[in-house]
Amino acid sequence: MIDTPSAETEVTKQADTELSIFNALQNMGHEQVVICSNPDTNLKAIIAIHNTTLGPALGGTRMWMYNNEQEALRDVLRLSRGMTYKAAISGLNLGGGKAVIIGDPHIDKNEALFRSFGRFVDSLGGRYITAEDVGMSVQDMEWIYSETKFVTGIPETLGGSGNPSPVTAFGVYMGAKAAAKKAYGSDSLAGKKIALQGAGNVASTFADYAAKEGAKLYVTDIYTEKAQALADKVGGTLVDPTEIYGLDVDIFTPCALGGVVNDNTMDQFKCDIIAGGANNILDDEDLHGQMLLGKGILYAPDYVINAGGIINISSELEGYNRQQAMNQTERIYDTTLNVLNYSEEHGIPTHKASNELAEKRIAEVSKLKSMYTSQSKISGRLGEMYRLDNR
Ligand code: NAD
Repeated sequence: MIDTPSAETEVTKQADTELSIFNALQNMGHEQVVICSNPDTNLKAIIAIHNTTLGPALGGTRMWMYNNEQEALRDVLRLSRGMTYKAAISGLNLGGGKAVIIGDPHIDKNEALFRSFGRFVDSLGGRYITAEDVGMSVQDMEWIYSETKFVTGIPETLGGSGNPSPVTAFGVYMGAKAAAKKAYGSDSLAGKKIALQGAGNVASTFADYAAKEGAKLYVTDIYTEKAQALADKVGGTLVDPTEIYGLDVDIFTPCALGGVVNDNTMDQFKCDIIAGGANNILDDEDLHGQMLLGKGILYAPDYVINAGGIINISSELEGYNRQQAMNQTERIYDTTLNVLNYSEEHGIPTHKASNELAEKRIAEVSKLKSMYTSQSKISGRLGEMYRLDNR
């Protein structure tokens, strides 16, 4: 007789999976996770809302070829939690959320897919506001916008702020300079050797700023022609993706995907500073953050220095003003120095320092909210969203 799993076993297995998901949500402090499926458009997406204490959860949608559903879930849970901390440390009145769409951004994109995703975003009634992330374009955001008003990063012609990457890159540049100030006593990047991982939107503008200041760039990307073009543009050197970690440089700037500081790469680093635009740079936050501290490598926490994008799109909610967004992004320099100093004073890894400062702000604002006021003033496009909603 063939031994097939009984229905009961299947239910038990399912319950185990559910249990581990609830455990993950409770351990990481998430409020809500929405699994979105539409067989007609082949949409497979997950929206994660981490924390809405400070305001509606704002965070981008990422489209990526995940190897399996667990990988996508892990990514969206970590990314959405990062958004809570990012908004909090940046002084924004926003919560943290993120979405992932499972698919190949080079071949699986179409109007119906994004519109069906937009309808799921809309169903959350403003608890989650989406934006652009890896694998997404302004055109995709426009399709989402045709189904929901809870979207930012829409084209400037539609009253939006467009592509946030240049502002993100400016913030990463400010963060890298602040880290240089802490490590070397001067924030000048002139003559500094920088290993740049990824030659995409954020990396390209970062490279422009750094090269203009006299830094020497080593550029890599899984698409060699992209890396070559950027290296040519900024007078840098093309390197193989596998060589980027072990280069004898001053600063490593990861601007591709997360998890690049991990068990395999840790021993390769020869840099003094890690400061990049990618989210979740530390594969295991506690373990690898502590290891970097032990090795004397100064890590500028990712969400602190890549907050320019969210600062830019949050400005869209108030009525977009590019100069104001750039001015606010410039403050990332001070925020980064503050975090690095706090880390030194308390003898803790820098990611822990930024988490503690962010949690402190959330707790303080949360206490304030217990006080009754006659009305909450919500201005600009965000106010419009909620007024329309409350008709
Ligand atoms: P992008 O898609 O334009 O660029 C990413 C680049 O990394 C691509 O060229 C890709 O080919 C390359 N890449 C992927 N895996 C690689 C690998 N293993 N080695 C080398 N290159 C690799 O994305 P982006 O908008 O520039 O964002 C880059 C990172 O910054 C992402 O982690 C994103 O989450 C983060 N970030 C972006 C923004 C923003 O405003 N765009 C804001 C905050 C954080």
